[in-house]
Amino acid sequence: MSQHNHNKSALTENEGIEQPNTTDKNAIAKFQERRRQKVSTKEIIQRIIENDKVALSQGITLIESLNPLHHAQAEEIVQGCLPYANKSVRIGITGVPGVGKSTFIEAFGKLLTSLGKKVAVLAIDPSSSITKGSILGDKTRMEELVREENAFIRPSASGDSLGGVARKTRESIILCEACGFDTILVETVGVGQSETAVQSMVDFFLLLNLAGAGDELQGIKRGIMEMADAVIINKADGENIKKAHMAKLDYNRALHLFPKKPSDWTPKVSTCSAIENTGISEIWDIITQYTTLTKENGYFDSRRKEQNQYWMLETINENILMNFYNHPEVKAMLTENKKAVQNSELSPFAAAHKILNLYFNTDNSK
Ligand code: GDP
Repeated sequence: MSQHNHNKSALTENEGIEQPNTTDKNAIAKFQERRRQKVSTKEIIQRIIENDKVALSQGITLIESLNPLHHAQAEEIVQGCLPYANKSVRIGITGVPGVGKSTFIEAFGKLLTSLGKKVAVLAIDPSSSITKGSILGDKTRMEELVREENAFIRPSASGDSLGGVARKTRESIILCEACGFDTILVETVGVGQSETAVQSMVDFFLLLNLAGAGDELQGIKRGIMEMADAVIINKADGENIKKAHMAKLDYNRALHLFPKKPSDWTPKVSTCSAIENTGISEIWDIITQYTTLTKENGYFDSRRKEQNQYWMLETINENILMNFYNHPEVKAMLTENKKAVQNSELSPFAAAHKILNLYFNTDNSK
């Protein structure tokens, strides 16, 4: 039997064209704004998938916007780009400030573009949300890479919680991929929670380290080491070369003590000099080995599926928390009860239940 497309049937009811309420000036303005947004949303999506970097920036700006009016539009853009995304390798890069992340990304990014890759660099900088200053720095970084046609560099979103910043980066990845970027680098500072967020959105996690800073393995949180698919010892140049090779042995020994990863991948250790541009292509080789292995054994795909689920739940969590803490009555009651709890006049549990009861018994759907 031939396929019949019901959508194209002349018998289907047409939605018609929405008409403004002509008696209300406000309604007309709102209607016009909605129509303007609809056109530009479509246009932005179309231009993104035609590989237009200006549209990509506009899309990300909407994702990052703190203006609630932009949320729906951003969501539509992400949704519209989704079918064109997913064809990439996503690489997380972390390391303490000063380890050479931006110098490395400049060298690594240029290697990738020379191999015909299209490279997008995104960042998660938790410091910018806490102190309004940024550890990852400003636009003067990666000066050469930024000028390349096949590169796109976007600093971290700011003015939001880490969860918010991370979600925005996660959504920006979708837009970058729809725009034709096949290699996504997500940079973050090696100072805590942000690694977990990055790990939940990348395929491969790279830890940059230095040699010769006292005991090699001190100061690196075990959790971060455990996440790493590769540890790269940067600044392996000049007098540092020998120390870097010693450090490589130490890290190799340490990594073997960790349990086997579900990916079946054994983390690799390598040295490089981002400034002298040595050891950089070896890192790309390691990543290629990883993607070959995990695409063959199915881990690459199953991990991405898991990550999608994680982000759905994260977004729900983030919104519930925001809704709760921005609730005017909850806010008032929290302030009121904090003192009583501090002074042991009320148990923390009783206070929590009182506030939760208030929240659950009011209409929170707005
Ligand atoms: P970030 O804070 O991790 O982004 O580090 P930067 O890329 O800004 O680098 C910090 C400092 O280390 C800068 O002065 C760089 O010039 C220097 N640096 C970065 N990579 C290397 C390297 O491979 N060798 C040497 N000797 N210095 C480097």
